[in-house]
Amino acid sequence: MDKQLEEQNKQENQRPNEVKNESNGGHSEENKRYPQRKYFNQRRPRQQQYNNNRGESGRQKPSSFKKISVVVPLYNEEESLNPLANEIRRALRPLNIAFEVIFVDDGSKDNSLKNIKELCRQDKRFHYLSFRKNYGKSAALQVGFNNVTGDVVITMDSDLQDDPNEIPNLIKKLDEGYDLVSGWKKQRHDPFIKKHSSKFFNFITRLMSGIKIHDFNCGLKAYRREVVENIKVYGELHRYMPVLADWQGFTISEIPVKHHPRRYGVTKFGISRFFKGFLDLITVMFATRYIKRPMHFFGFLGALSFIVGLIVNGYLSYLWIMGQPLSNRPMLFLGMLLIIVGVQFFSVGLLGEMLVKNFNDEKEYVIKDKG
Ligand code: UDP
Ligand code: MG
Repeated sequence: MDKQLEEQNKQENQRPNEVKNESNGGHSEENKRYPQRKYFNQRRPRQQQYNNNRGESGRQKPSSFKKISVVVPLYNEEESLNPLANEIRRALRPLNIAFEVIFVDDGSKDNSLKNIKELCRQDKRFHYLSFRKNYGKSAALQVGFNNVTGDVVITMDSDLQDDPNEIPNLIKKLDEGYDLVSGWKKQRHDPFIKKHSSKFFNFITRLMSGIKIHDFNCGLKAYRREVVENIKVYGELHRYMPVLADWQGFTISEIPVKHHPRRYGVTKFGISRFFKGFLDLITVMFATRYIKRPMHFFGFLGALSFIVGLIVNGYLSYLWIMGQPLSNRPMLFLGMLLIIVGVQFFSVGLLGEMLVKNFNDEKEYVIKDKG
């Protein structure tokens, strides 16, 4: 038994148990309901040998993972931290896998840092990082990812809305061979406006990305280490982790998870989340599809605009040659505008191509295997 695991058992003064025979979170039901779904069926997970996770005895087979890293971003969540730490310990105990919890304090102004320092002092499996100022949830996650040592990484919010008891279910699904398993807050306990606007966002993201999951922005997710090593999350792109992972070729799945109302404190994302979320969606879609070939995006728009402008002005030129005056034709301005905008799009595309040529980073290509 590895040293950390020994310590874990000693600290909890309890023998590790087998995982209870829990439901699989309803995803087999999902397969029946959505047989066309890309990530549930068509895309094959890479480790088919884990597909049947239960042995003949009906007991849980040991997981293929050796260590779990739980990354918890937090910003002014002082009251939630102690209950959260206890719930994580309780939820992970039966798994019999070593774990670490990395709290990332995102510049909290309350007693959060004091509380996590105390938690880390009491339990050596807990670690913390603290920002000097509030950089945002994405930055907190990224820094957490940079410091994980486990081969499976769990992210969860610190406000007790995400349920740590779902972690074993996420890991089980990951063990089927997926690279990222996202939680789906099927029954959300959030204000009306957030619940419904989020449905709309998820719909648009699903449509634009082609990733068939219901809930992109669930705080509770499980990743193989390789995934977090290969995606960069900044700004507020944490809302689109599955899109970032999908772009790198990782396989994605989803299971329904329990969601609770906020117990303490207030939400850290105000009404501006909707506006920013929409802008971020455009960023993500552009960055994931066209970052290496900007001319395909700008060139297409430029060519379209230029050609329409040319047709409009060509037609007007014909009329002018035939003797009609153009002084009372507002369409002329439209034609000119389209031509100018077209040329500008083209120029931006060319500039983009020049940038891509200069900043070609080989690390951006994820290598799955080597011979
Ligand atoms: N959070 C953070 N930095 C921020 C905002 C939020 O680390 O700038 C953390 C917050 O403490 C919580 C998680 O991100 O653990 C989700 O935030 P919140 O619960 O406010 O979002 P909501 O559930 O309302 O979407
Ligand atoms: Mg919350």
